Amino acid sequence: MNGLKKGMIVVLLILLTGVVVRAIDKNSYIEATRSYYKEAYREIKPAKVVSGWMVPFDTGNRTDIRSIRVVSVFGDHRESYLKGHIHTATDLIPAKKQALTYIYPMAVGVVCSIHLGHPHKTVVIRHLMANGQTVYTSYKHLQEIYVTVGTQVDQQTKIARLYTAAETKKYHGNYDHLHLEIRKSFYDYGCASWLTMNKEDLNELFYNPMVFMKSHLVLVTKI
Ligand SMILES: [Zn+2]
Repeated sequence: MNGLKKGMIVVLLILLTGVVVRAIDKNSYIEATRSYYKEAYREIKPAKVVSGWMVPFDTGNRTDIRSIRVVSVFGDHRESYLKGHIHTATDLIPAKKQALTYIYPMAVGVVCSIHLGHPHKTVVIRHLMANGQTVYTSYKHLQEIYVTVGTQVDQQTKIARLYTAAETKKYHGNYDHLHLEIRKSFYDYGCASWLTMNKEDLNELFYNPMVFMKSHLVLVTKI
């Protein structure tokens, strides 16, 4: 074998190894976990197309981003569960405190998954955009849930209630807020919420909720 051929084979091997290592590395925790959460998911098309987005609380003016308050930001470092994972949501509460905080869909859609137990109970809504794109909104840390998988919802459907500060105490953590994810994909069936370890995976699956809301809290289709 001449030197050139040998060199080409070495380069090819390095490239192939690189591809394999990346394929295993990429989302390896998610790959190993996602099938477990698939059971909670149902493939149902939303009956209606999204015509606008609102904040997920009954704040009086649901198209005003100032009616909500950020508790924890998107992309934050987390030590819980898989140590060092990235916060895939923005944690929110209404700007004006309410005795009981109810959750409403950000847009018309269908409930496609309800998964996890207290205090991480989660409802996921699948939305169909006018351009054919699919967006998912995921609402986590729900004390009570009033919908089931398959329920077609609109922005007035009361889907859940958050914990009060008193109720959250028994879980030894602060769960009296909404962990809101806005997702590009539900490929992981929900487990990427605690298994996202790098910015690349974060951006592949999730929108920054505040950035998304700032550009979408108005009608998205014009008549
Ligand atoms: Zn959170």
